[in-house]
Amino acid sequence: MAEELKPCPWCRSTKIEVWEAWAHKVGDWWVACKSCAMAKGGLEGEEHAIKWWNEQVAVQFIPCPFCGCKEVKPVMDYYKADYHDDLLYRVMCQKCEGQGPPTDTAEETISRWNERVNV
Ligand SMILES: [Zn+2]
Ligand SMILES: [Zn+2]
Repeated sequence: MAEELKPCPWCRSTKIEVWEAWAHKVGDWWVACKSCAMAKGGLEGEEHAIKWWNEQVAVQFIPCPFCGCKEVKPVMDYYKADYHDDLLYRVMCQKCEGQGPPTDTAEETISRWNERVNV
């Protein structure tokens, strides 16, 4: 029996989906929040995907360096490349729309955001 998914650590939504994306390769599991688009792929198996998700509950964002509010969350952008769609992650303040640097993974964009605030 698989572990239960915790609510989204960023937006508190309980609309979390776990699925196997076999478009690219077998065994590529994804987990995503349907409300705020926080997502991660490339996970090996359903249990690993759920475990990764539940570990994210501990992730904290440092308040916005521009306006000091805590309404900060990750957003995900698609952009069209020539042969495939790529994903970019950014952290954005919901209040002043201040943004962190875009990166390829959710984890990196969060750590870049938190580093930036420390500077
Ligand atoms: Zn969410
Ligand atoms: Zn702000």
